[in-house]
Amino acid sequence: MRMLEVQDLNVRYGVVRAVLDASLHVDEGELVVVVGANGAGKSSLLRAVVGLNKHRGQIEFGGRQITGLRAEQRVKRGLTLVPEGRHIFGRMSVLENLQVAHWGATTNLAAEIAGVFERFPRLEERKHQTAATLSGGEQQMLALSRALIRHPRLLMLDEPSMGLAPKIVAQMFEIIEEINAAGTSVLLIEQNARMALSIAHRGYLMETGTLSGGGDARVMLEDERLHEAYFGKS
Ligand code: ATP
Repeated sequence: MRMLEVQDLNVRYGVVRAVLDASLHVDEGELVVVVGANGAGKSSLLRAVVGLNKHRGQIEFGGRQITGLRAEQRVKRGLTLVPEGRHIFGRMSVLENLQVAHWGATTNLAAEIAGVFERFPRLEERKHQTAATLSGGEQQMLALSRALIRHPRLLMLDEPSMGLAPKIVAQMFEIIEEINAAGTSVLLIEQNARMALSIAHRGYLMETGTLSGGGDARVMLEDERLHEAYFGKS
């Protein structure tokens, strides 16, 4: 089943055209990645899908049009974005961050928190610690847990590897792969093209607002053109 279908999406900031007629889809159970350089328009694309910036075009989620819905209505339907920079509450403890993320959900809070701690024992060890004092990797785990505690149907991740040490980046990608294997569809945006493609089913390339590709991620990994432009440092 089609989880997300985006057609001819456009985002502009005044005269800057950040996303140009972008079309992409994510099927149920898929892990799809959008790779591309800094400033290519990847964040603008994700923010538009979740309803955080003005956009034109068609967005269908779970077979229904969501184009006219506000961000909170889109989130209620199971679309979740973990933004770049994590957006956790720095002065609150790990536990409080999870409690706040669960507000309004109908599931059992204690069971959900137990589930988070099972996946991330490190967060349990630090449950009373203020979030701002966690390491970058731990903060990213917390941000991810805040999204997962609501059981999204589609998890969208904006540069989860940003600012993390290489060893932690590898762990982060493993975790994303596991989350997807457990049944959550994932749309991942990354500059770290090689690593992201190595865990994805399909990939798109974003270049100055224009999206291309959409094919098998393994084939993209072999693409010489991408090697030169995007795999150099990763
Ligand atoms: P990054 O890796 O830095 O997040 P990106 O690929 O996600 O890059 P965007 O952040 O979507 O790219 O930016 C796309 C273009 O739109 C860039 O030229 C950027 O400068 C511009 N832009 C982004 N946000 C705004 C804004 N709020 N106002 C004006 N221009 C913006």
